[in-house]
Amino acid sequence: MYRNRHTNKFIALTRRLFQRRANQGATSRRGFLSGLCALPAAALTVNTDATAQATQSATGQSDAGQSGNRNFAEVIGYQLERHIKDARFAILPLGSVEYHGPSGPPATDTALATGIAARLAPKFNASVFPPIHFTHNPAHTAEFRGSVSVRPAVLTMYFEDVLRGIVQNGFKKVFVLNGHSGNIAPMRAAISQVAAERKEADFLLASWWETLSIQLVENLKLFTSGNGGRGHGGPLEMSSAAVFLPNSVEAGRGPDLPPTVRPEDGFPYYHEKADVSDWPGYSGKLSEISRDKGEKLVDTATKRLEALLEYWLKNESKAGNW
Ligand SMILES: [Zn+2]
Repeated sequence: MYRNRHTNKFIALTRRLFQRRANQGATSRRGFLSGLCALPAAALTVNTDATAQATQSATGQSDAGQSGNRNFAEVIGYQLERHIKDARFAILPLGSVEYHGPSGPPATDTALATGIAARLAPKFNASVFPPIHFTHNPAHTAEFRGSVSVRPAVLTMYFEDVLRGIVQNGFKKVFVLNGHSGNIAPMRAAISQVAAERKEADFLLASWWETLSIQLVENLKLFTSGNGGRGHGGPLEMSSAAVFLPNSVEAGRGPDLPPTVRPEDGFPYYHEKADVSDWPGYSGKLSEISRDKGEKLVDTATKRLEALLEYWLKNESKAGNW
């Protein structure tokens, strides 16, 4: 569809040129082609919905023109200095390439981190860096088709270098917006390392789904399972992913599963086990996935992250975990 619109535009343009040449009596093929080459570059720039769409799918946000473009990697070279000076902080989205069950795509985590980053950026005039796609998958998802995993030690060093590069560009404050649990340990280690090296730098790490406590999600009454639809590849995550990748999420593509049973007074703990032969790679009731629910969840998470960022910016001199 986009291609046709673009093609039609180009045909109309060349037809007008040909007509003008014909009127002037210069109808030779060479004359026509040289006229076409002489067109200003801007006239031939393909600036249709198709390119806007391509920008959107590659980066998670549409291009609002260069002056309003918050995507660091899309800023024209000569404008980078101004862009960095104007930005209050950098955002680094962390994703994964990981199987998310039969109802959603492997890019789920990347889409969520990038999509939420795009919503946060204009409010804070933040500079959004390209997301990190390939990361570490925990042992229980790494073996599934759809997963590509990087070893945690490699990832930690890779994260360190990316953080160093962002700081070296002139950003003193870096907000790491995480979409995937396997990134938490390597990124915390990387932040600790680079924060010790670069005294002027200030790093903040938050995982979007952790803004949605079980209590908070239960109050929204979106899902019927007792854990608020949480869990890897579950209805909370997949409904949220549908906001940014509507064509890659389909509700109910696998049987509904009972919620994971946790200890009564659950305190935080970490459990990992590779042999999960009886687990299908997702959690909860896939029949309850919906984009409308996802909009509510993403909206809530974005507001909570905004509050955190405002607090961060106001409390610059305070150290550590407040
Ligand atoms: Zn995920």
